[in-house]
Amino acid sequence: MPPNPGALAMIDIQKVTVLGTGVLGSQIAFQSAFRGFDVVAYDISDEALVQARSRLDGLVATYEKEIPQAAGGKAAQALGQIRLSADLADAVAQADLVIEAVPEVLAIKQQTYEALARVASDKTIFATNSSTLLPSALKDFTGRPDRFLALHFANSIWKFNTAEVMGTSDTDPVVFDAVIKFATDIGMAPIPLRKEKAGYVLNSLLVPFLNAATDLAAGGYAGPPDIDKVWRIATGAPMGPFQIYDIIGLSTPYNILSHGDEHARSLAAWLKENYIDKGKLGVAAGEGFYRY
Ligand code: NAD
Repeated sequence: MPPNPGALAMIDIQKVTVLGTGVLGSQIAFQSAFRGFDVVAYDISDEALVQARSRLDGLVATYEKEIPQAAGGKAAQALGQIRLSADLADAVAQADLVIEAVPEVLAIKQQTYEALARVASDKTIFATNSSTLLPSALKDFTGRPDRFLALHFANSIWKFNTAEVMGTSDTDPVVFDAVIKFATDIGMAPIPLRKEKAGYVLNSLLVPFLNAATDLAAGGYAGPPDIDKVWRIATGAPMGPFQIYDIIGLSTPYNILSHGDEHARSLAAWLKENYIDKGKLGVAAGEGFYRY
């Protein structure tokens, strides 16, 4: 029996490596650095790292605009704590935690974990930010199922700061707790899931909600602005479903509907014909269900 089993069981996460510097990876890297962690951001090529640099520069400006604590050079300072690397072994050599945010394609994720397992230290925890894949679909590629779980962020993590933490039946509870603590330390509201669930909490609620709204509009029962209005006034929610659609962007919900049953595919076709084909993809495109 060790003299102090509690102390031995503690895992201290200080160094973080983020794989993939796209929309979410860049945000996770930046938020972790902003909260004082040493961060390495990895992507597949030097060209991808040039894009990473410009995404991170954009986040400095966003944080300065939207977060009072980022004033006085704090956001620029965070940028200075992120090291970019296109060499996987180098990127993860010191990592206590690797957060994977590579494209949502099973084969890419599996290959990423196989390569990662070969070069990372045995003690390093791996976490996937996957939105739609269950961690149990990936655990066998990690070489450490007990130190692997999902840590799922929402887009715009500096203000929509949920972190859903979901292990598999193999995840060590000590690892789970360490990741909950890490999520708290970087300013997230951690949400522990007690078992695996596709869509976590957020998308299990949001996807049927958006589908129901689309069904009402596509069926001609009411227009998007009136559907949003009912939801806002009757529930006190700040946004209706079509306002949320515009923020997410229409492409991802469209892709989800296109892989559904016949009715879902008819809703996808309605979105495509009336909005996507007209370039109305949401806030980022300047127009979706509303103009910006
Ligand atoms: P993205 O396409 O913006 O970025 C993916 C990044 O991964 C790119 O920089 C790309 O160069 C890089 N990449 C490609 N192949 C790679 C490889 N083999 N190894 C390392 N990097 C590689 O994607 P995203 O929207 O940031 O999504 C990434 C993950 O985050 C997905 O699993 C997605 O489900 C999840 N997620 C996305 C959102 C969102 O709103 N975009 C929200 C929550 C979770």
